[in-house]
Amino acid sequence: MVRHLTDLQDNETAVISKVKGYGAFRKRITEMGFVRGTRVRAIKKAPLQDPIEYELMGYRVSLRKSEAAMIEIAPCPPKGELPEYHSTQACVNLNELTHTFTESTSKKVPLRGNKGAAIQVALVGNPNCGKTTIFNHTTGKHERVGNYGGVTVDIKTAHFNQQDYRIDLTDLPGTYSISEYSPEELFVRKHLAEELPDVVINVIDASNLERNLFLTTQLIDMNIKVVIALNMYDELQARGDKFDYQRFGKLIGIPIVPTVASKGKGIGTLWDKVIDAYEENVPDSRHIHISYGTEINDSILRIKTEVKKHNAINDALHSQYVAIKLLEEDKAFTQQIAAYTDSQEIIKTAQEEILRLEKTYGAKTETVIADAKYAFIRGALQETYQPAATREEAKGYKSDKLLTHKWLGIPMFLLFMWGMFQLTFTLGSYPMEWIETGVTTLGGWIQSSMPEGMLRDLLVDGIIGGVGGVIVFLPNILILFFCISLMEDTGYMARAAFIMDKVMHKIGLHGKSFIPMLMGFGCGVPAIMATRTLDNRKDRILTMLIVPLMSCSARLPVYVLFISAFFVAHQGLILLSIYTAGVLLAAVMAILFKKLFFKKADVPFVMELPPYRLPTLRNIGVHTWGKSVQYLTKMGTVILVASILIWALGYFPRNVSYTKDYEQEMALVAQSDSLTDEVKEERIGALAIAQESEKMESSYIGQLGHLIAPVIAPLGYDWKIGVSIITGLAAKEIVISSMGVLYQSDLEADETSVSLQKKLQEQTFTSGSHAGQKVFTPLIAYSFMLFILIYFPCVAALSAIRREAGTKWAVFTALYTTSLAWLVAFIVYRVGGMIF
Ligand code: GDP
Ligand code: MG
Repeated sequence: MVRHLTDLQDNETAVISKVKGYGAFRKRITEMGFVRGTRVRAIKKAPLQDPIEYELMGYRVSLRKSEAAMIEIAPCPPKGELPEYHSTQACVNLNELTHTFTESTSKKVPLRGNKGAAIQVALVGNPNCGKTTIFNHTTGKHERVGNYGGVTVDIKTAHFNQQDYRIDLTDLPGTYSISEYSPEELFVRKHLAEELPDVVINVIDASNLERNLFLTTQLIDMNIKVVIALNMYDELQARGDKFDYQRFGKLIGIPIVPTVASKGKGIGTLWDKVIDAYEENVPDSRHIHISYGTEINDSILRIKTEVKKHNAINDALHSQYVAIKLLEEDKAFTQQIAAYTDSQEIIKTAQEEILRLEKTYGAKTETVIADAKYAFIRGALQETYQPAATREEAKGYKSDKLLTHKWLGIPMFLLFMWGMFQLTFTLGSYPMEWIETGVTTLGGWIQSSMPEGMLRDLLVDGIIGGVGGVIVFLPNILILFFCISLMEDTGYMARAAFIMDKVMHKIGLHGKSFIPMLMGFGCGVPAIMATRTLDNRKDRILTMLIVPLMSCSARLPVYVLFISAFFVAHQGLILLSIYTAGVLLAAVMAILFKKLFFKKADVPFVMELPPYRLPTLRNIGVHTWGKSVQYLTKMGTVILVASILIWALGYFPRNVSYTKDYEQEMALVAQSDSLTDEVKEERIGALAIAQESEKMESSYIGQLGHLIAPVIAPLGYDWKIGVSIITGLAAKEIVISSMGVLYQSDLEADETSVSLQKKLQEQTFTSGSHAGQKVFTPLIAYSFMLFILIYFPCVAALSAIRREAGTKWAVFTALYTTSLAWLVAFIVYRVGGMIF
């Protein structure tokens, strides 16, 4: 009979033999000193039997009853005698404990104080992988060994001594999985969950890695201490396969020992590793989370949030495991959770998420999760495992051979990218024109049908001008998102990450960071959200920091305008140079930030390789639509507010005292007899524009522009550029609309860009030392484009960073990008000025 801390009578003393439970509970309880081998005495129970007060290590603590129930105890043996109870445990004297703890130099405090303890070890693996052979070899027992499945039905245990420990070894039935489908599976799962072996030996048949490793992924989910016995290693060698198992072990965070159980090879090392693992002495050992893709990860997160609110469940089980099991719709497990009081919220959340996922994927969540597990295995194997040539074809690695080829991989990838951008811009230009016409028609219609006044100005110039300018880019964005969804759903995106991994490592990032960066060319908001696929928070933040340097589609109109105005020759090349500048700066910044903030050594991780799939149109439609809605709502709300704000800042104050009486001069021109109608119209137009410009200069936004003029003067910019830069904070597209107003192009819709180009070319400084000189030279135009590329990512992108990484990093991004933009523009202006 196993006793628990709750069973302890007042004043009775016992020794802790096992602490169950996970997560924060385990951490807290360990910190309080509830570790194996500690002597504990019950003091008294509170009036309602809860909480209970205990004394250990010379001080008193009270535990909730539910917490105490998770701690197993054993009677304390008389002094000098070896303990003899189910989980053999020496009574450790506290002084001895502290002594060994302080002596230890390694970071993780090894449980050396527990020498002599009993370690519970279980053998888990597929049928026929050699578990019983290992069991027999080490224990000297002669259990029946069969070379067909299902021989081990009963559980067998034996104990033996190894180093200073006593090892209780259990041979479990062979299973391919630990779900609920067969009694064996359920049995193994129950054993792992209830007996909580200290270390699990996962025996793997080296001749069938992929299938055997599936079980391993489930052990990873359960967050159990695992050592892998890579058994039948002789067969792997005989075939001539190459398997870098050490690297593989590092990737999945589990130490691996090759064994040939039938000949007893490697078994000694295996036990050493088991003891190391028990003592937490294995550097490669770490708990990883398998990435199930954004959608499932989101669902897992939501369920985990619910689990964390439920103390009893959160203490008893690993929350990640609970979430995955519930999503898999594991009946037995769901019942187990449902049996807890107040667990309805968790079950309800899980059911909602299952529905959501099944809608998205059109498949059972269990299948999707299994696919992701295999993708994980395949990804890890792709990097470490090279089957001998004859077997390669059969294994289905064939399709990957071409796309992830050493030499052809990258050129083919670039070709796909080129195709994607080409499609985005050429195909997108048609609907773009239609929408543009629609927007201007709508504006014109309101202009002519509404009475003059502030409301009309707000509608036409503020809302339609501002929001309309953004909606125009919707087709490009839809196409870009369509391509990205296509790449994701076919499984090519994962290969792209794979191909780019080496390159990305050079800048301190992983191949997986490449996907968000790629998406950054479309829109920063979904790109920043895509960083969720990265496992490590540091990598995630680092990627977020540089994603804004990927030139998003909103900046394209600015480049198009300036390139067509100032660079007649080599237009494509200039555009490419801007995009390249962004990528190069991102690389430099990544290296710098890595050095500054995230110095810690890399942990290797697996890049999943999902199977290639023919994507359904429906799925791609759903994904594209989802991304577009994200874009539209995030951008739409921000842009709407910003447009109105900018419009208002330019519109007020209304009572401007002009330098001359424009109304009168216009009237004079109109009355003049000596002029033709054509000339009259022209002059009146010029006067109206001059008036508008004067009004703009004295408006709030004009004042703001003058305010920052000194800051940007070293870059050779005038105050109007300053205003455009400020308005661009909301969204980069707005830079153009504000320039349109400031540089007084007559805003005839279809001529806007043409006339704005001319105006930009002719623009001169009105005051200061440069008065009379042209504002825009090609050099200024280029430096301005770079400035727009680099400075302040739009408000929507920043709020995405804030959501994902926190306010601190959002503020940092805003500051560093803006300073960098200034610096780069300054250098280009000064150095360029010396050359040209
Ligand atoms: P279990 O079902 O996991 O308990 O597997 P068994 O221990 O019953 O072993 C299945 C068969 O594999 C037996 O015939 C063993 O002799 C054989 N076997 C076990 N380990 C090895 C090994 O490392 N190399 C080879 N070639 N055969 C092995
Ligand atoms: Mg067996």
